[in-house]
Amino acid sequence: MQLNNYAISQSANILSTPIEYLKGVGPLRGDSLKKELNIYTFEDLLNHFPHRHIDKTKINKISDIHSETDFIQVVGRLTHLEGIGEFRSRRLVGQLQDGTGILELAWFQGSSWVEKNLHVGTKYLVYGRTGMFNNKPQIVHPEIEVYVPAQAGAKNLLEPVYPSTEKLKAKSLGGRQIGTLTKQLFTQLKPNDIAENIPNNILEALRLMPRQEAYFKIHFPSSPEEYERALKRLKFEEFFVAQVRLNLVRLQRHSSSRGVLFEKVGYYFNTFYNEHLPFPLTGAQKRVLKEIRVDTAKGYQMNRLLQGDVGSGKTIVALLSMLIAADNGFQSCMLAPTEILAQQHFNGLSELLDGLPLNIKLLTGSTKIKQRREIKAALEDGSLHFVVGTHALLEDAVQFKNLGFVVVDEQHRFGVAQRAKMWEKATIPPHILVMTATPIPRTLAMTAYGDLDYSVIDELPPGRKPILTVHRNEMARASVMEFIRGEVEKGRQAYIIYPLIDESDKVSYEDLMQGYEQVKSFFPEPKYLISMVHGRQTPDIKQTNMDRFVRGETNIMVSTTVIEVGVNVPNASVMVIESTEKFGLSQLHQLRGRVGRGSEKSFCILLTGSKVSREGKERINIMCATNDGFKIAEKDLELRGPGDIEGTRQSGALNFKLVSLVDDKEVLEKAKSIAEKLVTEDEKLNMTENLPLKSFLQQQKGKTGWSKIS
Ligand code: ADP
Ligand code: MG
Repeated sequence: MQLNNYAISQSANILSTPIEYLKGVGPLRGDSLKKELNIYTFEDLLNHFPHRHIDKTKINKISDIHSETDFIQVVGRLTHLEGIGEFRSRRLVGQLQDGTGILELAWFQGSSWVEKNLHVGTKYLVYGRTGMFNNKPQIVHPEIEVYVPAQAGAKNLLEPVYPSTEKLKAKSLGGRQIGTLTKQLFTQLKPNDIAENIPNNILEALRLMPRQEAYFKIHFPSSPEEYERALKRLKFEEFFVAQVRLNLVRLQRHSSSRGVLFEKVGYYFNTFYNEHLPFPLTGAQKRVLKEIRVDTAKGYQMNRLLQGDVGSGKTIVALLSMLIAADNGFQSCMLAPTEILAQQHFNGLSELLDGLPLNIKLLTGSTKIKQRREIKAALEDGSLHFVVGTHALLEDAVQFKNLGFVVVDEQHRFGVAQRAKMWEKATIPPHILVMTATPIPRTLAMTAYGDLDYSVIDELPPGRKPILTVHRNEMARASVMEFIRGEVEKGRQAYIIYPLIDESDKVSYEDLMQGYEQVKSFFPEPKYLISMVHGRQTPDIKQTNMDRFVRGETNIMVSTTVIEVGVNVPNASVMVIESTEKFGLSQLHQLRGRVGRGSEKSFCILLTGSKVSREGKERINIMCATNDGFKIAEKDLELRGPGDIEGTRQSGALNFKLVSLVDDKEVLEKAKSIAEKLVTEDEKLNMTENLPLKSFLQQQKGKTGWSKIS
C-alpha cells in the first residue's frame, strides 16, 4: 500500500525513487545495494553500467589457448574443486573441461564463498584473462556462472555483466541478477522518463541516439555496433554536460563578480617595455599578455591559469602585468612555493626593475622581524608596490593598502584554501594569475580548469638548443663524470640530482651523502668546488649553497629535488639524474628543464641500475625521445591515469564514468567546442531548444561537487 502511494506521488520523477521500491529489491537487498555499490535510487541503478557483455555466440575452446591469449570465454564442466593450504595462504583450485582440454581455475580471496557455491559436475560459463601456470592454461579469479544456453531464436544474444561484490553475490545480487533488476526497471519506464538533455539540433548534427534509447542499449544492446552507438551518445553527454556547467560557472563569475579595474597602460609599463625589456617577447608571450590586458580592463575578476613549459618565459609576462597594476595605482604580489624560488624571483625582478621608481621587497619565513615589520608597514601605507614571497605572505597579519594583482608561481604547490586567502586581503578581489610549469594535457586542463580563464605559452624563446637526453647504466658513472669534467673545463656547470630526501628517509639521505663523497673524489677541491642542497639543511645554508652555484662560484650542484622548481642558472649545461626510475615523468621533465637555459648545448643523463621495470623503461624512452613538455604530459596521463597528474588531484572534476581523458580526445574536443558555443550564444539557456538542458542542470545541482578552483 505504502509502496503504491509512493509510486504515485513520485510519478513525476520516477528516477529518484529509492531503490528498495523496485520490484524484486525490498529493504534488505536495497540496503546491500546502497552499501556495496552506492545504488540509492532507480537512477543510480541505470547508471550502474555493465562492464562487458557476454556474447553467447562467441565461445572459445580450451585447446586454443596459448601463451599469447588474452581474455577468453569458455563453457565447460567443473570436474574438480579443492581447497589447498591453510588460513591466509589458503586458495581454491578447480578444473574445467570442455572436451578439448583442461583449464585450471584459481581463487586466492573469497574462496570459501566460491567453494560453497560451485558444484563439481555442473556446466559453467567462465570468462577471464588467461595465463600459463606450469605450462597449463589457468585463469585466476575468473568470472563464473552456471551456463544457460541461449534460447533458440533469441534476439538478444548480448547479456550484460555488471560489476558486483562478493557480499552482493552472497545475497543473490551477482552481476547477472543486477541485470534482471535493470531490465525490470525499464519495464516500469514510460517513453521520456529519462528526459533528453542534449538539444535536438546537436543530436541531429552529430547523429546521436536519444537519451532513453541510449540508456536502454548500453545495458541491453542487440549488437556490438548498437552498444557502441549508445556508448558514444552517453560519453558525449557526460563530457558535454560537464563542459556546459564549467562554461556557465566561468561566465557567471565574470558577470557577477566585481573586480579591480585596470583602466590604462601607463608610465611604468611603457618605460619598461620600451627601455628595459632585455629581449623581444615571443609571439606567445605577447598573446598571453594581451589576454591578461583585456581581462583586467573589464571590471570583473580575472582568474587565469597560465601554462607554459619550463623556460617558456612566464616570469616576464607576470612582471609586465604587475607593471600595469602599478600604472593603475595597485599593489602586486608574487607567491612562490619555496624560499629558493622566492629569492630567485626577487633577485630577477629587482634586476629587471633597476632604474624604475618602483619598490619591491622579499618576504619569507626567514625574513628578520625588524625587516618584516617595515615591509608590513610599507604594504599597508602603499609605499611598497611589489612583494615577492612564500607562504609567509599568506599570514593574516600581512595586509595591503590596495592589492590588485596576485601571481602564484608553480601553482600545484599551493592548495585551494591557501589561494583563497589572498582574496580576503582586499575588498575587491585582486586578479589572480596562476602559473604552472607542469604541462597538463589539454583534455585534462579543459576538464580540471574549465571554469578558469586559461592561457598557454606554447613557444620557447628563440635560440634555445634542444637538450640531448641519454640513458646510462650506473656502471658507466666514471665516464659520465669524465663527461662532466669536459663541460666544467669549458666553464660550464652541472647538476647531479638524487631522489628526494624526506626527513625520515634514512636510505636516500645516505645515498646522497655517499654520492656527494663520490663526486668529491672525482672532482677534488680546490681545483673543483661543489655545492650541496637538500631538505635537511636550514634555509640559510640552503640559500648560501644555492647562491654560490647561481653566482658560478661552484662547478657542481649535488642536490635533491628541492632544486626542481623554477631555479634558473643559464650557465649550467649538464643534468645528471641518479636512480631515474624513482622519478615520475613530469618530475623528470621539470628537472631537465634546469639546463638548456643558456645559449650552450645542454645534456641530460639519466642513470639507472641494470634492472629497470617496464614502466620505468618506458618513461626513460619518452624522456630520451622528446623535449616537449606537453607530449610528455600526454604520456604521463596515459601511463598513470588522470588521478595522479600533479595539479589536478584536488579538482574532483575528473571522475567520469564513461569518458576516458586518454582515449576519447576527439569526443572531448567536440563536446567542449559545442558547449562553449552554446553557452556563449545563450548564457541563460532560455532558447527553446536549450530548455531541457537547463532543467536537467537544475536537477543535477547539488548532486555533484563542482566548484571553483581558485
Ligand atoms: P619559466 O616559464 O620556466 O618560468 P622563465 O620566466 O624563468 O621561464 O624564463 C626562462 C629564461 O628565458 C629566463 O632566463 C628569461 O630571461 C628568458 N626569456 C624569457 N622570455 C624570453 C624571450 N622572449 N626571449 C629570450 N629570452 C627569454
Ligand atoms: Mg618559472
